[in-house]
Amino acid sequence: MTDPKNTAPTEVDVEPPCPRCDKPLELCVCTSIVPLATRRHILILQHPQEHDRELGTAKLTALHFKNATLKVGLSWPNLAKAVGRPVEARRWAVLYLGPAKLPPEAQNRPVVLLDRTNKPLDLQGQQLVLDDLEGIILLDGSWSQAKTLWWRNAWLLKSWRIVLNPPRPSRYGRLRKEPRRESVATIEATAQIMAALENRSDIAPPLIASFEALLGKFRAVKRPARARANAADLAADSGSPDETLSPVE
Ligand SMILES: [Zn+2]
Repeated sequence: MTDPKNTAPTEVDVEPPCPRCDKPLELCVCTSIVPLATRRHILILQHPQEHDRELGTAKLTALHFKNATLKVGLSWPNLAKAVGRPVEARRWAVLYLGPAKLPPEAQNRPVVLLDRTNKPLDLQGQQLVLDDLEGIILLDGSWSQAKTLWWRNAWLLKSWRIVLNPPRPSRYGRLRKEPRRESVATIEATAQIMAALENRSDIAPPLIASFEALLGKFRAVKRPARARANAADLAADSGSPDETLSPVE
């Protein structure tokens, strides 16, 4: 059986990528990025087999912040090792992958904080924890790669969990498979979380602009094979044996 991803054209990969964002030059949108200073740290853990150099957004996201760390790997002994300095796991929150049943009062909050039993905090409790957060953790890769990162790093259980109520579906549209409506790109998730945590209106717009510029360039390059490969991938990936992180169909 032929893997459709392996038959996709690779002509843009011939020339060396942009040294800053690692994208093929014709997809580079990083030249105008000015890194933002934020109070909280952003840690992005990327699965080593996340091969989506063209549409992946982890590196792009990290470039937007002075206070961001991108680590590629499968597992780290603890949060401090992943961040590279001593940290308190209870002052960090990880973007949670599994479905969460939110009570009606939480469904209009853009960012909802869950405890380790996946129970949403009430608004007051959430605000107290969010105000005290030192950093956020995002798992980057395909849906199944992100799940692997979750299970391989048990220390993630010590941190709070964030779930998002995105105002709109991911801008990826059909370009990348997303198992649930609330699944968004790393750069979209980071924009939403950091804007809420730092209570700033100047964080999301440049991130979303970079993402839209990337998607615009990608669409201009025309990759119909890509959409077909993702449709096949999504169909193959929709069955999940585990309960707590299985996608909601
Ligand atoms: Zn670049």
